[in-house]
Amino acid sequence: MPAIPACPLCTMENTYPDGDNFVCADCGHEWPAVRPASADENADKFVKDANGTVLANGDAVVLIKDLKVKGSSITLKVGTKVKSIRLVDGDHEVDCKMDAGSFMLKACFLRKV
Ligand SMILES: [Zn+2]
Repeated sequence: MPAIPACPLCTMENTYPDGDNFVCADCGHEWPAVRPASADENADKFVKDANGTVLANGDAVVLIKDLKVKGSSITLKVGTKVKSIRLVDGDHEVDCKMDAGSFMLKACFLRKV
């Protein structure tokens, strides 16, 4: 029997299963015992470039605009080519290794070549 999770609302552990739902005895919150088919684990994983092309590890991209690197005087110039990107989780989802160093960039400022 799977463990019953703590209440997502009040975090109390006074919870019990009720049909397909879990119910919290403390605040009355009910939530589905089965997580809805987690689309976020696959569908949303795609990182897309400025044109909506799906990017993958090892893709070559170019910058479509000048990007100032936060906390430095470096500006990455539009048209700068990155030979091999690495996709990572987070706000800046593309890890780029360039002559000037290694930078985390947003995919929306890149175009696949
Ligand atoms: Zn609760």
